[in-house]
Amino acid sequence: MSRSPRPTRFPLGLDRLPAGALPTPGQAPVQPREPLRPQRPLAEAARDALHRAPPAGLGLDSAAVRARMVQRLRAEGLACEPVLQALARVERHRFVDTALATQAYEDTSLPIGHGQTISKPSVVAHMLSLLHDSERARELGALGRVLEIGTGCGYQAALLSLLARGVVSIERLRPLHEKARAHLHGWRAGDLRLVHGDGRLGHAPWAPYDHIVAAAGGDVLPQAWLDQLAVGGRLVAPVHDAYRGGQVLLVVDRSASGWREQRLGAVHFVPLKSGRA
Ligand code: SAH
Repeated sequence: MSRSPRPTRFPLGLDRLPAGALPTPGQAPVQPREPLRPQRPLAEAARDALHRAPPAGLGLDSAAVRARMVQRLRAEGLACEPVLQALARVERHRFVDTALATQAYEDTSLPIGHGQTISKPSVVAHMLSLLHDSERARELGALGRVLEIGTGCGYQAALLSLLARGVVSIERLRPLHEKARAHLHGWRAGDLRLVHGDGRLGHAPWAPYDHIVAAAGGDVLPQAWLDQLAVGGRLVAPVHDAYRGGQVLLVVDRSASGWREQRLGAVHFVPLKSGRA
């Protein structure tokens, strides 16, 4: 498994967060955990599922095509075994349009409709590896309870469900929320709940979360995400960095004494928007 550098090697950099971004510990108490309840699949989801029959005869159903993708990621230095195993299991071609299915195992981002994109596998793998390297994940040997912001087509949610005890994934665009429901119809791994809503507010009913991951980046980190992150937990999200003039990947670890951030390299995620549509 990959190990990111120990936190002490990184500047705290808390001064770079927007004013008031970090609450003091104890502020804004989150609700106690409730067990995740299974969702009843929508009738439309079942009907939509009929439209997602993958193209036949392209060899995409074979585990070998994913094994080759995993092999390439390993060769590039990705070493988090649980994440690589999850990537080997989830059939990415089932989450994209039929016309794009042949590109599903290339290391490329792909459009998923409504102006949104699914990140390339190496970026997804990197973010999941960062989560898997948190203090909490090392304690649990898994991701525990996860909040994902930006369900999109549901691909990363499927991966998370293999790595976590429970996943809540929020999408603001109803058509994509429904598309993800269809893609994940019948998906039986883990406890996965899809929510149509504004992910900037997090999802308080199941907080706190051991891990939070966002697939869309805003100008500031929403306060709710910091509040809803468990002590010992880790958040990974793209955020605009005024110093660099673009997005960077932000890693925030919460300890009993507060929040500590690391800013990693430049990234390009779709914008985090407000409200739902
Ligand atoms: N993880 C996804 C990637 C989706 S792209 C996948 O595997 O397909 C990012 C998604 O974030 C888009 O679908 C976009 O609509 C969504 N998004 C942007 N702002 C949001 C917000 N405030 N709340 C929830 N989702 C949001």
